[in-house]
Amino acid sequence: MFFRLVSKRQIINDIYYLYIKQCMADYYGDNNKKQVHDLNNQKDGCKIDEIRIVHRRYFIPDTHSQANSEGYASCIHCIEDS
Ligand SMILES: [Zn+2]
Repeated sequence: MFFRLVSKRQIINDIYYLYIKQCMADYYGDNNKKQVHDLNNQKDGCKIDEIRIVHRRYFIPDTHSQANSEGYASCIHCIEDS
């Protein structure tokens, strides 16, 4: 069984990693509008507080080009696309 092969320590590490990841992520995806925001450069226009938790997601690696490649458009307020 799959779960028997995964140790408790490994599960705790994974959860901890996800928790840290959410606290320290630079880029933040809105799964509803298919938009990505730069949390270090957020503006009033981003309305990040209005993004429902179920629509929030993060990217690995944590870059806006990764988000773009997954179909998320860069927010016009906080990400200056090259
Ligand atoms: Zn934004």
